[in-house]
Amino acid sequence: MQQAKPLSRLHGLSSLVGNTPLLAIALEYRGRRRTLYAKAEYLNMTGSIKDRMAYNIMARGYAGGALIPGAPIIEVTSGNTGISFAAIGRALGHPVTILMPDWVSRERAMLINGYGAEIIFFSKKDGGFTAGISRAQELAGANANAFRPSQFANEDNSEAHFLTTGPELWRQLQACSLHPDAFVAGVGTGGTVMGCGRFLRERNPAIRVHPLEPAGFPIDHPGCQGKEHRIEGLSDGFLPPILDLDAIDEMVRVDDGDAILMAQKLAGQLGLGVGISSGANLLGALQVQDEMGDQAVVATIFADDNKKYLSTDLFREVPVREGFRSPAINLLNLTAVS
Ligand code: PMP
Repeated sequence: MQQAKPLSRLHGLSSLVGNTPLLAIALEYRGRRRTLYAKAEYLNMTGSIKDRMAYNIMARGYAGGALIPGAPIIEVTSGNTGISFAAIGRALGHPVTILMPDWVSRERAMLINGYGAEIIFFSKKDGGFTAGISRAQELAGANANAFRPSQFANEDNSEAHFLTTGPELWRQLQACSLHPDAFVAGVGTGGTVMGCGRFLRERNPAIRVHPLEPAGFPIDHPGCQGKEHRIEGLSDGFLPPILDLDAIDEMVRVDDGDAILMAQKLAGQLGLGVGISSGANLLGALQVQDEMGDQAVVATIFADDNKKYLSTDLFREVPVREGFRSPAINLLNLTAVS
């Protein structure tokens, strides 16, 4: 039997990527009842939102001829992207090499290995992400067929969210007779906030679109040298080229300890086993709703689940510090909208 063409083989995976439920989370904060909305992105094929981006970049790659069947895929990532390209790349018969920092959770590396990809680690000492990107360019330079997704600079990354995440969110809110007033998303590459934000703003230019970063660790903090924040997947230490801060609203900042406590609470009170950036995103959405009023419809993303964080502070006791919001939040009810 003849093998199907790569693009149609990729389309064969399409039911595993996207079309995630929208979660309506009812909570009480400082004695007032509110609702916040989050896309359950951990339900994607490999357990994170990055499957949407990997799928779209590969689809564009095949369609435009930049991705040749069987060609090596080489990418730099703090984890979830590596897992996505490893799984989807291997499913379509590509050798996959992932360059990743040595400071992220070891579960990430184990999963990437498990999906059959090769890993090359880089350290802060070597120059962090910028050095990782140069090394990937060098490797790709040695093979004329090598495919570099370049998630930090590739507009097909944000396009994935413009074409899927944004429209899904819009439709699911509409099904509840709601319209979004604001969207908040933590920035790794900026693909989610830019793509979703662009879609929502095209529907209604008044919708606020906020990027989010860990407090004390601006996205362009040089490699977070010395100290590290604990919201893996956000703030990789440089300004990603696809992130246009002038086109969106101001940065929201969330403490990493508060984000961990929030993620723990989502698991412990609502049965939502999500990663640390999801805790940060919910707190960011709450901050924006605080400014806009209790009735404002604010949506965000739960980018991945908690299983990649078993060896991290997400599964340890974390001290409450002054100014944290999570201790004042009581999670009341969860409804999923398909
Ligand atoms: N949360 C997690 C856990 C992630 O891995 C990422 C991607 N690095 C993000 C959020 C941010 O997504 P984006 O790259 O689209 O900005």
